[in-house]
Amino acid sequence: MIKISLVPIGNIEERILCFLQAQLPVKLKAGNLEIKLRPAWSAPDHRKLKTGQGLSALVLADLARIVGPDLDEYVLAVIDEDLIDPAIEYVLAETAPALRLGIISLTRLRQEFYHLPPEEEVFKARLLKIALQILGTLWGLARCQDVKCLMAHGRNTHELDRKYTVYCLNCWPLVQRRLGTP
Ligand SMILES: [Zn+2]
Repeated sequence: MIKISLVPIGNIEERILCFLQAQLPVKLKAGNLEIKLRPAWSAPDHRKLKTGQGLSALVLADLARIVGPDLDEYVLAVIDEDLIDPAIEYVLAETAPALRLGIISLTRLRQEFYHLPPEEEVFKARLLKIALQILGTLWGLARCQDVKCLMAHGRNTHELDRKYTVYCLNCWPLVQRRLGTP
């Protein structure tokens, strides 16, 4: 059975994690998926950032300590800080597949970040799409050329918003294989 641990970093509203906990099994069509909420992990200490290092790299390195030996367990961390990256300005999410670890930033998923009125449904849709993309990446799926597929690039809200919340016909069997639900 695949296990996913949701880890809030710093202060994250529990309803956001509960939303993921409820929706991931629905979208993955997997009843044999165990999704747990883990206790909050402390917010990153920016003073530890090395020159040229992105915030996501710092957090992922720190989170490596949380990952257990179970190869079927994946950690999905959620942070509400902009994941600044000196090389490419920012990332919405980052993965460390060898560690079965991913991190998502909520900050740029909100309409308010772009000085627009809040839209809860837009925010939630973006969060779910990026979580499913991160899981696909951790399960070994490659970037997909179909821009409507969850595994397409999701580097910004434009790319996220044009996706559907489904894997394409090429990617879906690969997800099912990893979940053991052919
Ligand atoms: Zn695809």
